[in-house]
Amino acid sequence: MDPLSMRPRGHLIISTAVSAGVYAASRSWTLTSLSWIAGVLIDVDHVLDYLVTQKRLDPYPMMFKHFDRQRSKKCYLWLHGFEWIPVIGLLSWTLGQPLAGSAILMGYSQHLLLDQWANGLHPLFYFLTFRAANGFEAEKLGVLEKPD
Ligand SMILES: [Zn+2]
Repeated sequence: MDPLSMRPRGHLIISTAVSAGVYAASRSWTLTSLSWIAGVLIDVDHVLDYLVTQKRLDPYPMMFKHFDRQRSKKCYLWLHGFEWIPVIGLLSWTLGQPLAGSAILMGYSQHLLLDQWANGLHPLFYFLTFRAANGFEAEKLGVLEKPD
């Protein structure tokens, strides 16, 4: 697969399946929704990257083509980071919402693991600290730009 090519449809399908499991275990639509939202909306950071690097927003197909071909020299993806897992866990525990935190972590973790497995990037790519240590430089991170 191409870099960063895990498709939104794949995330929708897997997030729906994982969230069905959350519903089967909890019988809670709130927890189910949290799992699903966490599993899908993590990818909004691609739009933020596009805005920061391109200094504009475009219709989704144009942005998706840009992501698919990885045209940006920088790759931030602020929401994609295994470091967020303990943060979410500690925050939910501190706020007295461990079930909500668990549901969010189910959705969030499966998304990251699916990206890690499907996108074929450096094993540490989905660590925010690894990307930061490489200056968020797409070339250093192995997310190469492709010519037309
Ligand atoms: Zn993703």
